[in-house]
Amino acid sequence: MKTRELARVVTGMATSDGAGVRLRRSLGQSDGARLDPFLMLDEFASDDPDDYLAGFPPHPHRGFETVTYMLEGHMLHEDHLGNRGDLRSGGVQWMTAAAGIIHSEMPQQESGRMHGFQLWINLPAREKMKAPSYRDIPPEGIPEATFDGGRARIIAGAWRELTGAVHGVSTEPLFLDVALDAGAMLRQEIPAGHNAFLYMWDGEAAVGAGGTGRGLPSGSAGLLGDGDLVEVTAGDHGARFLLLAAKPLGEPVVQYGPFVMNTREEIAQALADYRTGTLAREAKRGA
Ligand code: MN
Repeated sequence: MKTRELARVVTGMATSDGAGVRLRRSLGQSDGARLDPFLMLDEFASDDPDDYLAGFPPHPHRGFETVTYMLEGHMLHEDHLGNRGDLRSGGVQWMTAAAGIIHSEMPQQESGRMHGFQLWINLPAREKMKAPSYRDIPPEGIPEATFDGGRARIIAGAWRELTGAVHGVSTEPLFLDVALDAGAMLRQEIPAGHNAFLYMWDGEAAVGAGGTGRGLPSGSAGLLGDGDLVEVTAGDHGARFLLLAAKPLGEPVVQYGPFVMNTREEIAQALADYRTGTLAREAKRGA
């Protein structure tokens, strides 16, 4: 087996989105900072309500999937299809925007800690205009594995014999939330040819064969090179990270804000559909 090495570190950048939610953006901070099919990864983490109360009022998406994973806090999702979902600590919302969805994501707390992630995963051209769908996975719906010195929650994909909460996505994503004690190691097989990265949000770890690889500090995404095995060894204070992998699409990406298509013409169409109110109607009909 060939162990993947840390090929590139994308340090999270402070920014804000929605109506003024403060967050840290690693993937997606520039067009060059993507990892096909992953478009963006944001981490929001704050004890200060001023950093999150404004939330994300109604806004559209087309052409990809948004995955929200809450570690701590409470948000309410509502969309034009009538879906309403409570997102609580440890839960996941997997929204396939596809042809179009208009939704809001609003904090349901006025104090306390809000901590979570939003990941954008691209859809292949043939699925960009399919009907949207929405899955809410409560905390107890996510399988958890324990191993020597660590544990992993399996949001999507598989961990040894355990199958994750979400499957049937054509890019075959793996999405693990991993906790390692000081010095402990995670070994995870990932098919050669799939793209993979880690997002370290607490502590640090060495990435590469036998714990001798480059260190990945907290608050940064580590993009992995090719191989079929990932080995991550926690530093002296342990490590908390997300491990993500998926099959690349190899298609052109044209993004304009919340729309991600293959051509500029399709972006112009998305903007026109949103302006004229047909984005939601197209989405209902599907294609
Ligand atoms: Mn959104």
